[in-house]
Amino acid sequence: MAGVIGRALDLVFPPQTLDGSDGAQSVGLSAEAWARIQFISEPCCDGCGAPFEFDIGERCTLCQARPKAFARARAACLYDEASRDLILKLKHADRTELSGLFVNWITRAAADLLAEADAIVPVPLHRWRLLSRRYNQAAEIARPLARRCGAAYLPGALVRARHTASQGGKSGSGRRRNVAGAFEAPDTRQVEGRRILLIDDVLTTGATAEACAKALLKAGARAVDLAVLARVREAAPTAI
Ligand SMILES: [Zn+2]
Repeated sequence: MAGVIGRALDLVFPPQTLDGSDGAQSVGLSAEAWARIQFISEPCCDGCGAPFEFDIGERCTLCQARPKAFARARAACLYDEASRDLILKLKHADRTELSGLFVNWITRAAADLLAEADAIVPVPLHRWRLLSRRYNQAAEIARPLARRCGAAYLPGALVRARHTASQGGKSGSGRRRNVAGAFEAPDTRQVEGRRILLIDDVLTTGATAEACAKALLKAGARAVDLAVLARVREAAPTAI
């Protein structure tokens, strides 16, 4: 009995780190799992959230060459083996308690974007996938995030206009073609004139987030920013 209570309490009251600084961030994570997560902090690219080894200015060369449809982006950590294990738990198992941890991470990484956001919109799942997976992992993060920062939560602002094949294994241009026009913002009153913060779990080429941002801008959003849990180190095509 004591063991069961101990484990349950671990999820609510995180183990303290040695320096006591990040205890509240480590809900449900072992010290080893926590140490393996590569968090992204400044300096990073304002346009896509990619980490810089040195402070090389505001935007990376990719963002300078081809500005994204979203204005700015932040990612809490790198998408690697360690973060993937955790994110897959949220994605494919009923581990919604993990969303509280992820909300902490995004709150810290995207503080300046959150401060300016009028509304928060999750990248939608197609309803067929929603049925098979039962919930949308981006929404599991976006909903408590909106509650915490006092922005409007608009889960219905974006809808998938059509079914898209999985983005896994496709090149950057293949991904862009795959999701072009796949999203719509059917009720312009929800988004008109607002600065929207779009939420997704993982950022690879940014094709999905760009298709979402374009739909929101077309519907009259003033600007669209992006916050994700994890991103690949560089915007190269990576199969997930
Ligand atoms: Zn960039």
